[in-house]
Amino acid sequence: GPVVLLAGGTGGAKLAAGLAGALGTTADAPDELVVVANTGDDVELYGAHVSPDPDLIAFHLAERIDARGWGLDGDTFHVMDGLRELGVEVWFNLGDRDLAYGIERARRLAAGDRLTDAIGDLARALRVPARVLPMSDEPVRSRVRAQGRAWEFQEFMIVGRGAGPVEGLEFRGVEDARPTPEVLDAIAAARAIVIGPSNPLLSIGPILALPGMREALRATAAPVVAVSPIVGGAVLKGPTAAFLEWAGQPVSAAGVTALYGDVLDGIVCDEPLDPPVGGSPDGSPEAAIPVHTADLLMSDGADRRRLAGETLAFAAVLA
Ligand code: GDP
Ligand code: CA
Repeated sequence: GPVVLLAGGTGGAKLAAGLAGALGTTADAPDELVVVANTGDDVELYGAHVSPDPDLIAFHLAERIDARGWGLDGDTFHVMDGLRELGVEVWFNLGDRDLAYGIERARRLAAGDRLTDAIGDLARALRVPARVLPMSDEPVRSRVRAQGRAWEFQEFMIVGRGAGPVEGLEFRGVEDARPTPEVLDAIAAARAIVIGPSNPLLSIGPILALPGMREALRATAAPVVAVSPIVGGAVLKGPTAAFLEWAGQPVSAAGVTALYGDVLDGIVCDEPLDPPVGGSPDGSPEAAIPVHTADLLMSDGADRRRLAGETLAFAAVLA
């Protein structure tokens, strides 16, 4: 079966590229790698349906990600310039090609197509060496309470600069959403499941909150291994620390492990688990989960492939 990666848009997307390299998948033979992407960050803007995490994953995998860390390499911003000229307050920047993808996606969704098909076709058009699946076809929207008010997710990240303290997190619509059949089939058939080094609450949280998802991860025969997003005791990008603090967890691999709880069979991190946390409901120290220690920094393609390869080898030992 395939390797299945659960991912958000930065740490998870970088590991996706590493896994494609380690597995040797190509655009013509992508099926060995299935990436399940968070869609809690999706937003309708400018007549487009923007899916930031699935798109970032596709751009990383296609080696088309811009050096700034989002958007397409070499994209232009004429539409945003035009909107500003009209006096529109452009708080969410989107490149012209990026906007084109989002407009076509909105058209297809309005015509009754599934988000899975729209995202799958974009991945094919960009010649992505993996299958990229949205976690769900139904809308789930992350909302944050912070700085004394409620925010839509993108507004919190951009206008609110992702600043804590965080006072609440809600995945609107998640009770009525379901993992897609493609996602459930991939998990059931997987040889390994990797939870990417993404924000455990904002990026992985919506995926795990889907009804039936934790059950599917517990039921599969494949080992479930997380890669910690905490590198050298710190968060590399985004508001992961503020959300761990809100959840009452330390900013450490132990905090991440505690959040994933009993779906996890092992964790790749760069520090001992302190306190030891386990997959057993009673949390007894003897149930502390297996740890593989690795250098977690993914600066370049070689780093990404190395970390992906070590993660796959660790998962194979646990299988
Ligand atoms: P977003 O969707 O863009 O917010 O990105 P993610 O949720 O996928 O990723 C955010 C997390 O990625 C942060 O907690 C970072 O610490 C982590 N991260 C970024 N770069 C790296 C890296 O090179 N290695 C690891 N292990 N984590 C990383
Ligand atoms: Ca994201």
